[in-house]
Amino acid sequence: MIRVLDSNIADKIAAGEVIERPVSIVKELVENSIDAGSNSIIVEIRNGGKSYIRVTDDGCGIPSDDLRTAFLRHATSKISSITDLDNIHSLGFRGEALASIAAVSRLTVVSKTDLSTAGSKLVLHGGKEISNETVGSNIGTTMVVEDVFYNTPARRKFMGSDAREAAVIIELVEHYSICYDNIRFMLINNGSTVFTTNGDGNKLNAITTVYPTREYKQLIPVNYANVKGFISNPGVTRSTRKGQLFFVNGRYVSSNVIEKGIEKGYGDRVFSGYPIAILFIEVDPSLIDVNIHPGKKEINFLNKEVIICNIADAITQAMQYKESIPEASARSIKRDHVITKPAEESKPLDIKDYLMNLDETVSHEDVTEPTRNYHTYEELSQSVREEVSENTYVPKPFEFNELQYKGYIFDSYIILQANNIVYILDQHAAHERIFYEILMENYLNSQQVAQPILTPVIIDVSSHVYNSDRSWMGSLTSMGYDIIDFGPNMFAIKGIPEYMKVSEAESFAMTFMENIDEYENNVAVVDKLIMKSCKSAIKANEHLSDMEVAALLDNLSKCKNPFSCPHGRPTFIKVTKYDIERSFKRK
Ligand code: ADP
Ligand code: MG
Repeated sequence: MIRVLDSNIADKIAAGEVIERPVSIVKELVENSIDAGSNSIIVEIRNGGKSYIRVTDDGCGIPSDDLRTAFLRHATSKISSITDLDNIHSLGFRGEALASIAAVSRLTVVSKTDLSTAGSKLVLHGGKEISNETVGSNIGTTMVVEDVFYNTPARRKFMGSDAREAAVIIELVEHYSICYDNIRFMLINNGSTVFTTNGDGNKLNAITTVYPTREYKQLIPVNYANVKGFISNPGVTRSTRKGQLFFVNGRYVSSNVIEKGIEKGYGDRVFSGYPIAILFIEVDPSLIDVNIHPGKKEINFLNKEVIICNIADAITQAMQYKESIPEASARSIKRDHVITKPAEESKPLDIKDYLMNLDETVSHEDVTEPTRNYHTYEELSQSVREEVSENTYVPKPFEFNELQYKGYIFDSYIILQANNIVYILDQHAAHERIFYEILMENYLNSQQVAQPILTPVIIDVSSHVYNSDRSWMGSLTSMGYDIIDFGPNMFAIKGIPEYMKVSEAESFAMTFMENIDEYENNVAVVDKLIMKSCKSAIKANEHLSDMEVAALLDNLSKCKNPFSCPHGRPTFIKVTKYDIERSFKRK
């Protein structure tokens, strides 16, 4: 028998599509508050939002006559006709959220507009009206949602632990707080304030309030074409992509196209892990496939290559700044945001624990940082804000000609200074970078004339190599080698690439030949072979004369990417005068 479902059941089914778990409720309520033009939004949750969610705003409010209507399915004030659909500026427009939330919870709303003298309070249980009365209230709206899924036990089972549900809600509110930096967000979890942003319209302030760790206050600004935001220098990475947040046209999205752009932009400067990147991208809405399903955030770009290139260029450009050189104390952030760790799932989130962990990390891992004890979250955020303002910079491009040579240590590191920053250059990494770029360029241009050497270097090879197809010899020739067959199982090098010492050229060629099993005459393979062989070409702890240091710097300055070796290790690290003074507790 075919039956039309009664509206109560139909509502619950529809609600299930919009409301999957407590975080979906928080998302809808916060978006409504943003759409209402609020300056301040308070989000409070208990038990991961399962037992209690409150969102209070100071927005336009809902007129008492409309209050009941707002909870009907497809009730929206945001669009009125189909033509409006092409011109949506609000976050919501489907008119489904409030009806769905009300259907699966006990909901209380108090709202007042600036035109009315009193507010209204409406209570709905499972969508059924319990009471509707006039009350005193401020302008704005408060929604309290209790006992989520109390009337749909099957759904209740699919919720995670309190800590897990809280973690995703906290993450969500973090994203809105960063994106809407002109709104003051306050987040309260089980009675403790997690953070309060100041809504001053400064993105970096919002970011450092939400993520009050050292790595975030040293982010480098990105501002290029349609891409703005902040990134970490390539020495500061995390083991997951959790530090990468993308907002397209004001919406938090996930996108592997954007991730590709970031990877391309950092290129080989990242040695391991994922740098922090918080990017705000503006794209003509007709060039993106906006997925209007309320729960989804994956975005599709029609012109992926353009997006990848823009992001890569934006990052490459930001990387020209001194700030992109890793600090002497920089380290990978081993610890992901504590509150999202699976290990934390079993116990309720405790902000004090979180802060204690933070303190331990700071004092044990980071020698340049004097031990600090913050008793409250506010103290911690305050101190971060102070540091941010003390350290406020205008990023400047890195200039080789500003560098003054200050010394040479451990037969490996060159000490240089530019104004208030001391740079330590790893001669080994620098050499690798220089050789790699020269040899790669020679290979690609094939115009190289070898520099003759007085006594040819004889290289013994296995008969396997000797009897191989000799196409690899052509690659070495284009790199600047003059190499000939010298009888059974031997080759003679009569000329070597410019800038290389005989010993270096010899080791390079030997490694190259040892690996010709991998050889194919294409850029990717030769690139890999050059990278591998460069590494063995350079002898560790080889003392450089002053002239050699000068030549090294000169050659490095001509490199396309002087900041890392081909394997992604940094060539430079830096220590600021400020860091030094702080270590001596003068600051
Ligand atoms: P939508 O956001 O898609 O319009 P909702 O069901 O989320 O649908 O909300 C229905 C209507 O209720 C909105 O169009 C808006 O007019 C009103 N509303 C909801 N929340 C608020 C709020 N916090 N402040 C003012 N108006 C609100
Ligand atoms: Mg809505």
